[in-house]
Amino acid sequence: MRTVLISGAGVAGTTLAYWLAERGWQPTIVELSGGLRSSGNPVDVRGPAVAVAERMGVMGRLHDARTQATSLRLIDEQGQTRARVRAPSGTEIPRADLARILFEAARDRTELILGDTVTALTPGAAGVEVTFARSAPRRFDLVVGADGLHSAVRRIAFGPESDFVDHQGLYVATLPLGQPARAPHEVQLLNAPGRLLSVHPGRGQELAAFIFRHPEAEAPDPVELVVSAYGEMGWRAPELLDRLRAATDFYFDAVSRVRVPAWTRGRVTLLGDAATCVSLFGDGSTMAMAGAFTLADALGRLPIEAALRSYEARHRRLVQPKQHAVGATSHLLVPTTRWGIGLRNAGARLLQPAA
Ligand SMILES: Cc1cc2nc3c(=O)[nH]c(=O)nc-3n(C[C@H](O)[C@H](O)[C@H](O)COP(=O)(O)OP(=O)(O)OC[C@H]3O[C@@H](n4cnc5c(N)ncnc54)[C@H](O)[C@@H]3O)c2cc1C
Repeated sequence: MRTVLISGAGVAGTTLAYWLAERGWQPTIVELSGGLRSSGNPVDVRGPAVAVAERMGVMGRLHDARTQATSLRLIDEQGQTRARVRAPSGTEIPRADLARILFEAARDRTELILGDTVTALTPGAAGVEVTFARSAPRRFDLVVGADGLHSAVRRIAFGPESDFVDHQGLYVATLPLGQPARAPHEVQLLNAPGRLLSVHPGRGQELAAFIFRHPEAEAPDPVELVVSAYGEMGWRAPELLDRLRAATDFYFDAVSRVRVPAWTRGRVTLLGDAATCVSLFGDGSTMAMAGAFTLADALGRLPIEAALRSYEARHRRLVQPKQHAVGATSHLLVPTTRWGIGLRNAGARLLQPAA
């Protein structure tokens, strides 16, 4: 039986484990975290990922775990409505719940190593010798880096992160508020030039997001950066900044695009955000699931080297438009001027009014 080591039990890695097991491979997943957590930022399963989820038999579970958001309300600093639009189609679900449900579908046929990471990859006669931080070294026929934006596999096999990751001039911080949603079915969004503040109802518990333009800061202090960007904002900004100052568990990162000229080096390949991240601006979870299916499908039909070439050729066609659209998408969500915000709101009113 052919063996594959998948680094990362996220959306891409768990989907790949399922589909490779279906095609007779023996998957092992190594995950840095000590456990598979729940919750996380809401992500979408739509377009080509729906068919992948349906064929895995998990669509019902994804539906049960979906967030409650049905519309987006664009507001002003007084909380007054400027436009209201329907939430985009698809199933929206907290990222970690999506990964957990996908993993549960693969669990019976997948070995899971938690709390560990790859530290070295050495090409062998047929396969890769893998060294881990904690587990004993092992050989695999194939290694897949599905370990996200800051992929360790990419760093080890392809080169430093700075060669492949571009800062998009924005940062994002998200903070679970741990309190019942005041507006249980709508995402509320307030823009000021270069800044977006949103409150998402999640699955009944509010989640705040700060997405703002800022040049790349050397070793930024996340809280200081957010407070300096939102200090003057109205609506719920003062309350949410207080919550951020007191928080110990929040997400913060530079909004980044990953571009890797070739996704494969020998028997090591990249998948999901590790290969093609567009942060929150391009259906990343849908792309991760679709890419995993394409890769497994090719590996089920072709010799490994030919399969990796086929995967890259097919999946690049799907992700390239998303990668090109990052600038335009980010300007829609975070316009840089008051005029731009007004124009975006007017467009929203015309194009897709909520019922
Ligand atoms: C704030 C925010 C909002 C987003 N909103 C959306 C959205 O609305 N819709 C959408 O489609 N997408 C959205 N995305 C993008 C989406 O989350 C990603 O594109 C998607 O999760 C990519 O899946 P992945 O499996 O490649 O990576 P991930 O889901 O990030 O999984 C990577 C996994 O690798 C693990 N890992 C990391 N390092 C190592 C290591 N050294 N060794 C082993 N394991 C490791 C991580 O713990 C994680 O489990 C959003 C992203 C962010 C940050």
